[in-house]
Amino acid sequence: MEALYDGARTGGGTAAEAGAQATDAAEPAAGDAIAQARDDAEPRAVAAVDPHSVTKPCPDCGSTVPVDPLYVDWCAACGWNVDPADGQRDESAPGRIEALRRRLAHDYGEELFREPLPGDGSGARPGRGRDATLALLIASAVHALTLALAVGGLLLVVLGWSTVVQPVVGVVVLAVAYVLRPRVARLPKDVPLLHRADAPRLFGLIDEVAEVVGTRSVDVVVVEARANASVTTYGLKQRRMLTLGLALWESATPQQRIALLGHELGHYANGDTRSSIVFVNALRSLSTWLTMLDRTDEPDLFEMAANALTFLPRKAALGLLVVLDQLTLRSSQRAEYLADVFAARAGSGAAAAELMDLLLMAEVADGEVQRAAVRAQSAKLGGRRRERAVPDGDEDLWARVADRMLAVPDREYQRLRRLAELRGHSADSTHPPTHLRRRRLVEGEQFPARVVRDAAECAALAEELAPARAEWQRRVERGY
Ligand SMILES: [Zn+2]
Ligand SMILES: [Zn+2]
Repeated sequence: MEALYDGARTGGGTAAEAGAQATDAAEPAAGDAIAQARDDAEPRAVAAVDPHSVTKPCPDCGSTVPVDPLYVDWCAACGWNVDPADGQRDESAPGRIEALRRRLAHDYGEELFREPLPGDGSGARPGRGRDATLALLIASAVHALTLALAVGGLLLVVLGWSTVVQPVVGVVVLAVAYVLRPRVARLPKDVPLLHRADAPRLFGLIDEVAEVVGTRSVDVVVVEARANASVTTYGLKQRRMLTLGLALWESATPQQRIALLGHELGHYANGDTRSSIVFVNALRSLSTWLTMLDRTDEPDLFEMAANALTFLPRKAALGLLVVLDQLTLRSSQRAEYLADVFAARAGSGAAAAELMDLLLMAEVADGEVQRAAVRAQSAKLGGRRRERAVPDGDEDLWARVADRMLAVPDREYQRLRRLAELRGHSADSTHPPTHLRRRRLVEGEQFPARVVRDAAECAALAEELAPARAEWQRRVERGY
């Protein structure tokens, strides 16, 4: 399940986070204007505001700044207002550990940027090396403790049966071991799932990308709404599950989608430690320990004693969590750069770089979906009914999201890239900064697309996603 928080987090969370805040001011206006435009008879004509028709002088350097009512005004010459939220953001200080984590993550991202990566994805895999081995050893030790508790509990019950106390303690210990046990992720319920038979063309495309990447294809595709994508495994047989978020998928060009698939499948090929079942379960087990050992605030005498007693184990569990995280932080960032190489090999370097731009805007796509939800809800509350019959497709939420993304001018992308650089932005600390990922793709070895799809094939593939698209639109309009 949490094997590989990726893509959208990558992407979505990625630059999106920065973009989100930055575009907050401009967003509602933009959304409303486009919504309005679509409601009008000739949507395109209304939406097509020439961004260069109005200009103003930059207040800092006097250069000419184009004014586009839908987007933030900023100066390319001196960088004025690249970050309109600058100074207003809530800079609540992160904890000591989180601050260290962020600093390290930032340093790793920069350091790895300079490290050459094999263009064919060969060479040292993120899942190998001293740190990875140590991380897996610690993770195994965590599970060994769980096993020891289970065995100890059982012995107490069996051997101490004649005493009253020992079996009672034994049962408690067994219960603790049960809570700590490693478990396998399951397929999510209540979301649209696509199996091979439901979507032969989509799976055909994924198979082809998997072959380029050099890994096994996926067993199921989960469709969700968010501008996100990720891969993980489920079940005892470790079947593979790819999650595609419609807000991202529908906004991407066919070639960018292939690059996205290349990135995600690249994670399987990488063998990232953080996604291994041993590691994921060790993190879960340690978090459970922390919850069980949590200290009581404003304790009475008895609780004070308990707090003192749990002090060392609590610190040990926390320490192990931090160590496991640190040991894998660098390799997970490396895994992202490597997955980007696979994205380029499958969909072309250009498409992979464009995908980074799309990730910068992921929050905009998510915002559009949320606005649709709010609109639908307020229409329901207001008791309003759409009187006119709307031609099919015009009301397609996902087409609207894609249009919204298409309408974003190049200048806004430029601003978001600069903003990402300014803020050192990345999805989270397991991801390298988005602007560095993009630069690697633009400046590094260039790959032609190994997988391509023409318009007709894309249309046929889209048909397979139609039920999931409709289902998610219904859910969004019901307020999720
Ligand atoms: Zn990734
Ligand atoms: Zn200026």
